[in-house]
Amino acid sequence: MTAKISLLDETLIRKIAAGEVIERPASVVKELVENALDAKASRVQVEVLAGGRQSLAVSDDGEGMSREDAVLCVERHSTSKLHSPAELFSIQTLGFRGEALASIGAVSRLCIETRSAEESAGTRIVVEGGVQRELSSFARDIGTRVSVRNLFFNTPARRKFLKPVETEARHITQVVSQLAAAHPQIGFEVVNQERLSLSLQPGDHRHRASQLLDIGGEDLLWSLWEENGVAVEVLLGGPGACRKSRSRQYLLVRGRPVYSRPLQQAVYRGYGGLLPAESHPPFVLWLDLDPRQVDVNVHPAKKEIRLADEQMVAQVVARAVRRALDMPETAGFSYNPLPTSLRPQELGEAAAVFLPGPAGSSAGEGQMALGLLASSLPRYTAGEAGERPSRDELAGPPRILQVHDKYLLLQLEDGVAVIDQHVAHERIRYEEALDRFQDEGAPSQQLLLPLTIHLNPIELEAARQAEGLLARLGFGIREFGSGTLLIDAIPAGLKNWQEGALIYKIIDELIQEKEIRDTLQEAMAASYACHTSIRAGERLVQEEMQELVTRLLKAREPFVCPHGRPIIVKLSLRELDKLFGRV
Ligand code: ADP
Ligand code: MG
Repeated sequence: MTAKISLLDETLIRKIAAGEVIERPASVVKELVENALDAKASRVQVEVLAGGRQSLAVSDDGEGMSREDAVLCVERHSTSKLHSPAELFSIQTLGFRGEALASIGAVSRLCIETRSAEESAGTRIVVEGGVQRELSSFARDIGTRVSVRNLFFNTPARRKFLKPVETEARHITQVVSQLAAAHPQIGFEVVNQERLSLSLQPGDHRHRASQLLDIGGEDLLWSLWEENGVAVEVLLGGPGACRKSRSRQYLLVRGRPVYSRPLQQAVYRGYGGLLPAESHPPFVLWLDLDPRQVDVNVHPAKKEIRLADEQMVAQVVARAVRRALDMPETAGFSYNPLPTSLRPQELGEAAAVFLPGPAGSSAGEGQMALGLLASSLPRYTAGEAGERPSRDELAGPPRILQVHDKYLLLQLEDGVAVIDQHVAHERIRYEEALDRFQDEGAPSQQLLLPLTIHLNPIELEAARQAEGLLARLGFGIREFGSGTLLIDAIPAGLKNWQEGALIYKIIDELIQEKEIRDTLQEAMAASYACHTSIRAGERLVQEEMQELVTRLLKAREPFVCPHGRPIIVKLSLRELDKLFGRV
């Protein structure tokens, strides 16, 4: 039987970036789990005591090592995975430095217990501070368990810089989760302080993403997108599932967990105005592309990558995310005929309904995942002409009930929709503004008496940047000497014109919004929308409500306001029935 491990030749050794491999217990775990994965394990278990400072161990049911290989594997630059410099550029397996075990053995008490299929007995080898202490045979199953005790015992400076136990334990869980995202078909367990703290059953991508993101499988949004030789599969949470921390973000390039700020940002860009302020989307994103496009050696621990055509790849990523978030097309909306069992008069004012009927489109996963209304809205498909309401039915305008001067109530085929009038209008205005920036702009109405407002230098700077966009919205604005703006026109039909206050507010907010929005246009649109839309507390007449709902349903994104709040909330008939004990 031949030894699988060969010593790397000198040129190759020099080619390999000499990087610090072990920074903390989590880096040890990463190396050990990667080895287990390389050994084709189907289950990997990680045990941790005192954040890995005391001990950590990784067990796998992979192919194991022969005695000869076990002895060799703790020597520097021993690896079974790489034989020529050319292979460096097309690395398929995970580890490739061939020095992880040797490095770990140099700064801890390392114990490897392993057995391969070819051998009847297992091997135990113990190395302490780089010195072999034990080599023995014992009975065990095929597979490997590597345990590391007293990490950094002989490098006190390193040991001193370890973070509190909980922090190190968290890093370990993070590392395992990241690797688990890359390998959904493999089972992972983390046992921390003798308690099972992470248990991931083998499954498909959706199953694994659901576990890692803590979002029900049916609530996950999914898309698969390929463009320019870049393939992206993404599973993510809708705006409602966004969190205050980035901890649930998994980016895998060619099957490896990596960090790449441009790609991460591309995901955020994909969410665009759907992303609530200061929140972070949970996602698992698998990206595949030509390996020559990827430079994995930027970081010694191979975590950070660089891409040859970053911008192009980022665009593909953003597009995949947008597709996953795709909301129902509301272009072909129509009124829904009332179910015969529920007549308008029985419900008083709340009666018939407006409903989006996305012609030809079926319910995408996106809608449901947002936990909003979409999935349960009745739909009319192009082929089912018979189901479409007739013109006569459409002629009689449905009635909408306004409650507490802030919510609109509508009856749905299978429940009730509640619309927040302010955010609904905000969404309409937001999209309207974005459209204005693209087309020729909105008509203005001249003010009889021009208005002047005074700005400080920062505000003035923002105003100058915003001038073009404000003009497109229909504002006539000119600079008029030191820090003074002259306003002589406003958007035609703008009701909530608060005199100069509106311009102040927009400019002031622009300074803040710019931080969180992708573009000045989005920032401007969000701010304009917020300040010119119907407020909570405004009484609306039936026609205004009709108009509002009609326009909302025509919006590209009728369910979430530009700041991420829901616009429409649904109470299903089932839920109502439950409340009344009917089911
Ligand atoms: P590398 O992974 O870069 O080859 P390592 O020092 O991590 O270097 O491991 C050295 C060698 O030991 C590996 O190439 C592999 O042959 C063997 N090995 C390490 N861990 C395992 C394991 N869990 N199962 C089987 N073989 C292993
Ligand atoms: Mg390795």
